Amino acid sequence: MRLIATEEAFAPRDYIDEFLKLTRTIDTPVTRYLGIYYKKAEAVRQLVDLDHRLVEMDAHGVDMHLLSITAPGVQAFDAGLGTDLAALANETLSAAVAARPTRFAGLGAVAPQDPQRAAREVTRCMTGLGMKGIIINSHTQGEYLDDPKFWPILEALVAADAPLYLHPNFPPDSMIGAYSDYGMMGALWGFGAETSLHVMRLIMGGVFDAFPTLKLVLGHLGEALPFWLGRLDNRYQNILRRGGLEPLGMKKLQRLPSDYFRENVWITTSGMMSNEPLRFCLDMMGADRVMFAVDYPYEQTAEAVDFIRKAPLDEETMRKVAHANAEQLFRIVPSA
Ligand code: MN
Repeated sequence: MRLIATEEAFAPRDYIDEFLKLTRTIDTPVTRYLGIYYKKAEAVRQLVDLDHRLVEMDAHGVDMHLLSITAPGVQAFDAGLGTDLAALANETLSAAVAARPTRFAGLGAVAPQDPQRAAREVTRCMTGLGMKGIIINSHTQGEYLDDPKFWPILEALVAADAPLYLHPNFPPDSMIGAYSDYGMMGALWGFGAETSLHVMRLIMGGVFDAFPTLKLVLGHLGEALPFWLGRLDNRYQNILRRGGLEPLGMKKLQRLPSDYFRENVWITTSGMMSNEPLRFCLDMMGADRVMFAVDYPYEQTAEAVDFIRKAPLDEETMRKVAHANAEQLFRIVPSA
């Protein structure tokens, strides 16, 4: 069974170096945490050395990594440096994919801090660099993609038919205290809370009415949102019936909240390795919308592969989740 893993982190060495520089001038829970993490040689090697991971992929039968820059990526920097690092990361990634086209594919990085240049980078990634889509690590310094200033990026994504992987980020500085008091700002809770908030802003902010063909990809089995679909519709319709949208600052949407989630969103299994939520998400989203991911190097390849290979799925659903959905969405050449 061909396995394509769709949320696999990498970083160019220059990115790590610039981030370590940042940690010496900016003191936040995030820079403190990553400042320690990026001083571990093996952690950096896992992100930087693209051949190193092939050993682990081969040992566990992972055929391909869809690579993307690790969070918070280029969004941590000022606009100029972020934009330059995005271009560098994309060129590094493009070369790695060209060297091993059957093992690696890539999602391009952009720095939304400069929306116009980010939009041009989307186009360059999709036309010149052979990327399969774009990754944005949730909020950019506390700002979200529903803000019209970012819409040139969304226009470029739609024009290129490029899926946007909305990957988690730590909560922004304005909210992080409530999470970081007990170390919950990362994958334990903060990532999912932050990213699901971002998706809700896109849905409720009418972004998918403005861009009906925008394709969004979420990790971690949809950042808990599949569990909320019924309640979202119920509350939206309830408020709509009472004429209460306007007083609450809500928008009248063209579709129900769950419609956008089912029609514009794909989800991956990154970091989620139990059968019950997988089964639930397949029931809620359909077999065409769920894709395998490991979340290398932050999750164990052995565990993720063991989970998916033993998952109680029928043959056709397994084929779709393991590789066929990724091949279709990201236009990855099917194996011979
Ligand atoms: Mn990840």
